Amino acid sequence: MNLFDTHTHHPKGSKSIFNAEQNFDTLNSQSYFSIGLHPWHLYDKWEEKWENLGHFIKKPNCIAIGETGFDRLHGPDISIQKAAFEAQAKTAVELAIPLILHCVKGHDLLLEYLKKAQKTPQIIWHGWNLKPHLAEELLAFPVYFSFGAHLLRPGSNASKWLERCPRDRIFLETDDSNLDISEIYNSASLILRLPMEELGALTRENWNRISSRKLP
Ligand SMILES: [Zn+2]
Repeated sequence: MNLFDTHTHHPKGSKSIFNAEQNFDTLNSQSYFSIGLHPWHLYDKWEEKWENLGHFIKKPNCIAIGETGFDRLHGPDISIQKAAFEAQAKTAVELAIPLILHCVKGHDLLLEYLKKAQKTPQIIWHGWNLKPHLAEELLAFPVYFSFGAHLLRPGSNASKWLERCPRDRIFLETDDSNLDISEIYNSASLILRLPMEELGALTRENWNRISSRKLP
């Protein structure tokens, strides 16, 4: 079955986006990856680090920017996080590829950015597990939701929002867990009452609608 994993920290081949952070040697031309500066790792010379990643971003199998974003619990001062996010968002706009968002206690920071930016990339909030009304506030903008392990807990915010989330905004992921993506699809399939096969087609279609770098 063709089950697309939007965000994983483990290299898994062609049906997933591997979040490449440091181990660039593991990247090969077969697998898709995303690249970006995580808000936890912005302590020194992030501008220089970002420049140096340009070489990887040009590769056609780099299909997303990220994960990047805002974190009020870890990482440097928010002003630095904002500057780094905006630089990365700009690249995502230029390449017309999505940005994978890490956001911890930063919903207001994302909204602030979305309201003031002239052009925003398509943003995939990964690991969504906030209350549904907070998701609703984002629907006026090109924001998508990637659901992961929280779906395995019945009654979680993630499960509640998935049920109501517009279908063209849905993605599924394993993130840093050791779960098989089929376990996430299985939970989502029960919540949405949609066969896994159809869900696989849905997340693929969703990707290809918002990205210039398409999945086959
Ligand atoms: Zn992650």
